[in-house]
Amino acid sequence: MPDLTHILDAGLEWLYETVQPDNAHQQHHGITIGHPEANRLYGFCPTGADNLPVVVVNVAKPELHPYDLPANPLRPDELFDLATALEAHGLTVRTTWNGHPAITGSVGLVQPAHPTLIAAVDRYHRGCTVHPERSVFCDCEHWREEGRRIVGPNRPTATP
Ligand SMILES: [Zn+2]
Repeated sequence: MPDLTHILDAGLEWLYETVQPDNAHQQHHGITIGHPEANRLYGFCPTGADNLPVVVVNVAKPELHPYDLPANPLRPDELFDLATALEAHGLTVRTTWNGHPAITGSVGLVQPAHPTLIAAVDRYHRGCTVHPERSVFCDCEHWREEGRRIVGPNRPTATP
């Protein structure tokens, strides 16, 4: 069963240590790793605010009620705990957004993502080179193949 430590290990390894091929592209929102037991979804975005990495925690299945606050928001100390855990990984926190009583919270980091991952995000923004008129919305085999070449994280949920 994955816990937050394993999820952060996997996500941060992908963000900071994984070398991406120079013929792959990565959508700028990055990847998510689920933590179903905790009803959470963690996102690792290579180029968020100010083009620096952002780690996001979301309630995976929010209980929303019209005219009222969500019934199962993030815990009051959850975003702080996430920021603290990221600092324990040797990272520097720039700022945080949202958190309790919302169902989402984000932590902005100082250290830029791995240069080959940033290059892959730049390739995404450049769009399809075969069909420049379709930009990132192309669905041709060349564009999809370029996206498939991205090296994904070692997902902790994949291990028994
Ligand atoms: Zn294309």
